[in-house]
Amino acid sequence: MSESEEYLMLSGIQHFAYCRRQWALIHIEQQWSENERTVDGKLFHKVAHDAEAIEKRGEIIITRGLRIKSEIYKVSGICDVVEFHKAEDGITLHKYEGLWKPYPIEYKKGKPKENNADELQLCGQAMCLEEMLLCDIPSGSLFYGETRRRKNVEFTIELREQVKVMLEEMQELWKRGHTPKVKPQKGCNACSLKDICVPKLQNTSVTSYINERLKGI
Ligand code: SF4
Repeated sequence: MSESEEYLMLSGIQHFAYCRRQWALIHIEQQWSENERTVDGKLFHKVAHDAEAIEKRGEIIITRGLRIKSEIYKVSGICDVVEFHKAEDGITLHKYEGLWKPYPIEYKKGKPKENNADELQLCGQAMCLEEMLLCDIPSGSLFYGETRRRKNVEFTIELREQVKVMLEEMQELWKRGHTPKVKPQKGCNACSLKDICVPKLQNTSVTSYINERLKGI
């Protein structure tokens, strides 16, 4: 895990949006349990990161695996893909003539989720890029492996504010080294950390929980 005392992983925003406790178990307590979902997701991302780092296709420059960070929010990460589209209100790029507008694209294995965790992560990437490149990025895309479609995401004031609040909350928990208590929810069944987190302990005694588990052995 590459988190230093100061910089948190931007990708943690999706864990945080899913469940604050899950984020803390992974990023503060360094617990990680790989289920099929997370392994498949990692392989899918590897494909996006392994390809050529930079290529130009007509009016678009495509970069893969671009490292990003924000001094303001103390987060860092890697963009799957950032396209630079030729545009009059773009920025200059070393070795390329003209002006170019960044457009981040994040690859996701499955299909669009019920919550907006993917949109928040993508918006966080855009906020880092804006800070690094001194530009405005109004939108980006999520590409879902299951639907094989791009979904356009507008980086609205509301979405940016949600990202900001989450990143501040993450920093606050990180500095205190605090893992929030269990809050059983719908997502617990699919959670890769359910065996470590043990959400059922919330409503039952440790003894009856362990007895219950032993019945199944
Ligand atoms: S099992 Fe539930 S409460 Fe525990 S970390 Fe996962 S989602 Fe959060």
